[in-house]
Amino acid sequence: MIYERVALVGLGLIASSMFWAMKRHGLAGHVAGYARSSETRETARESGLCDSVHDTLVDAVAGADLIVLAVPVGAMEAVGKEMGPHLKPGACVTDVGSVKRAVIQAVAPHLPEGVDFVPAHPLAGTDHSGPRSGFAELFDGRWCLLTPQDPESAAVPRLRQLWEGMGAEVDVMDAAHHDLVLAVTSHAPHLIAYTMVGVADDLKRVTDSEVINYSAAGFRDFTRIAASDPTMWRDVF
Ligand code: NAP
Repeated sequence: MIYERVALVGLGLIASSMFWAMKRHGLAGHVAGYARSSETRETARESGLCDSVHDTLVDAVAGADLIVLAVPVGAMEAVGKEMGPHLKPGACVTDVGSVKRAVIQAVAPHLPEGVDFVPAHPLAGTDHSGPRSGFAELFDGRWCLLTPQDPESAAVPRLRQLWEGMGAEVDVMDAAHHDLVLAVTSHAPHLIAYTMVGVADDLKRVTDSEVINYSAAGFRDFTRIAASDPTMWRDVF
């Protein structure tokens, strides 16, 4: 066991995959979960997602050794602010946001002394979202990049061990460099895909059946990418 108590904040694709991946190899003693909507919390309870599901953020993070922020990038600041005063001394906060500098700026000011912050970004996903979309193998053989503010902190090797236990390969990187690399390899391609699918939709001269009949592999890949959650990607852009 790497962490006795983990709190998952946000119960979508990434958090639910982390839960099943942690359970696969017994990496966490108890996993507490919190989601914003009662609907998602109910789904989590029904599907056995998390050892305990809490109606408030403060209850979910109480006593946690590791807190994972798995909400859209634009929601990180409000979550950091609300939970900050309730964190256990010596706890580690991490996130899974697709950009790192913006998350550090949003969350770090709200964390108390004695709490480590080790931002992370698993390079794994699907075009599905929500509490039922996760699966234990999502991170197998995929990279997870850590962008710690203090690379010497003991919290870094411990979080690395968790991600390796969940099947990922881990690298440590400067946050600004991470954002540059991911802009090229992921964020700009997603923006182009969204834009192209939007253009095809808007261009009334191209009928739906023409788009479907004559779409080549490139466009089909665009439509798959553009099916990803729009809130998440709006925040990343
Ligand atoms: P998801 O499946 O859409 O789940 C998002 C979760 O965040 C849901 O539990 C949702 O709660 C909660 N949430 C949404 N808006 C919120 C708000 N304003 N305040 C509090 N909670 C809120 O998302 P995901 O794909 O797991 O993505 C989570 C994070 O991982 C994002 O930061 C994303 O950038 C990052 N990421 C995603 C991928 C990917 O491919 N999907 C890959 C790597 C990293 P409700 O269900 O109650 O609305």
